Amino acid sequence: MALDLLIKNGTVVDGSGMPRYRADIGVRAGRIVEIGRIRSAAEKIIDADGLIVAPGFIDGHTHMDAQIAWDPLGSCSCWHGVTSVVMGNCGFALAPCKPEDREWFARCLTAVEDIPTEAMLAGIDWNWESFPEYLANVERLPKGLNYGMYIGHSALRMYAMGRRALEEPANEDDLRAMEAAVAEAIRAGALGFSSSRATTHITPDGTPVASRIADWHEIDRLVGAMAALDSGIFQIGPDISGGEAQRLFYERLRRVALESGRPIMFGTLATKQGVDPNPWDYSTRYIDETVALGGRMYGQGTTRSINAVFSLKSYLPFDGLPAWKEIRALPLAEQKHRLTDPEVRRRLVADEAKMKPKSSELQGGGAATTDPRRPDYANLFPMLDVDWDDPSIADLARRQNKHPVEIIIDLCLENDNRVFVQPLVNESPEDVLGILKHPRTLATFSDSGAHVCQEMGSSLQTHLLSYWVRKRQQFTLEEAVRMLTFDNASAWELPGRGLIRIGYSADLVVFDEEHVRPRLPTVEQDLPGGARRLVQKADGIAATIVNGVVAMQNGESTGQHAGEVLKGRLAAS
Ligand SMILES: [Zn+2]
Repeated sequence: MALDLLIKNGTVVDGSGMPRYRADIGVRAGRIVEIGRIRSAAEKIIDADGLIVAPGFIDGHTHMDAQIAWDPLGSCSCWHGVTSVVMGNCGFALAPCKPEDREWFARCLTAVEDIPTEAMLAGIDWNWESFPEYLANVERLPKGLNYGMYIGHSALRMYAMGRRALEEPANEDDLRAMEAAVAEAIRAGALGFSSSRATTHITPDGTPVASRIADWHEIDRLVGAMAALDSGIFQIGPDISGGEAQRLFYERLRRVALESGRPIMFGTLATKQGVDPNPWDYSTRYIDETVALGGRMYGQGTTRSINAVFSLKSYLPFDGLPAWKEIRALPLAEQKHRLTDPEVRRRLVADEAKMKPKSSELQGGGAATTDPRRPDYANLFPMLDVDWDDPSIADLARRQNKHPVEIIIDLCLENDNRVFVQPLVNESPEDVLGILKHPRTLATFSDSGAHVCQEMGSSLQTHLLSYWVRKRQQFTLEEAVRMLTFDNASAWELPGRGLIRIGYSADLVVFDEEHVRPRLPTVEQDLPGGARRLVQKADGIAATIVNGVVAMQNGESTGQHAGEVLKGRLAAS
């Protein structure tokens, strides 16, 4: 019988970490059916001579919940070899949600994740209330990727408690309603339940999001609802606002892990900010100790610093200052013209002295871009390319004997697509490497779909392959592919994915190991309603295949959307 797809002459890196080998791969009805020297005819052939064929990459930490309504591609992850993502992280989800709360939800997602309210109101057909209805809606939507999802605590709390969710502890009736909704979601196919205690997660009014109002007893009960079904992952955004806060958070989370027995995941992040910050390996030692006591726990690691991203076309750190406000309100061409005027420049430079001084308080991507402090110019970098070896603004200012603000203006005028990055957490690459090398951490946490104009983590996979594998040689290609595929498929309990094996789903990526790398991000106005976002594509990815169908070829969508909903054990058929 003819194959649907044949990938010929490629070098297979199968996701297990085993050494590569040359083979053709045959696909029929969405699955891998043959690996070897294939002689059968095929409807479509991809010649992968000189290229790597690997399982499609899996990203367990995204916020594509809103975007999936208007973006069938799954950008920007789709450009980086990703074929499966998990959304609904950190307690932020669009379900369950009562009709009267929709706009509030949209505004919350704007406040926390910088997903524009106008894009959500214009782009989403809100036809659900319960989690199972939302999941059914995602099932119907055309999608180029596979999507798994959590039920989110902030959504759930608002659903059960209304506005009391933003102020009060849950009473027994609230707890029962929430437990029932968690169980209902898990039975319908949710991969788990997510929450957040991160101080960077605030409502539009600047108050804590609903999940942060919950006490730990509530978390025990809701994770307990999953434990009763022996199914579901608990993901939580950690409190890393300071050393003490992080230690207390970890201590209490350990009890949840040991009492529930459910797999627990949180961002394993290092930072030098806040009072008395812990070293990066405090987190990995904690995970090891918890597992030794009988818990199941994974750290979610990034592959580089999480950065606030600035540019002339989006935010600059100075936008709130009076002289800057005047200029920044003008059309782009006019701004550029004014920025060449020596008198204007003098005023803009002088204005910078009025900025709030930098404190040790931890700022997330949101506050760092919308309520910035005076930048630490030694920790602000123009992205001249994607090699992560750029001089800082402070270096450039010293070399050219200019004020740092003038350096930034010059760089913007030279190229209005120029972006500047300010590392917020995981500032040191060596800390990141330590976290990534730890066997209980996962290479994930792109935050894809969130912070659309403030951060850019969607290139995590191509960054790992180009920076840590090719440039720094800290991982073999086989190890890095395993981290992005089998490890994540195992941690999220996604059966039949994450390896190249006969019978497995044909989620595949074909790439050039010598040339794969992220491109520089740019600011585009392509969201519903014309809102702007950062877009980052990649070089060196020849094709991605999702459930046996070619989704992307040479960075372009084929217009075919074969993605599925990834469901937890109780709903998977
Ligand atoms: Zn998140």
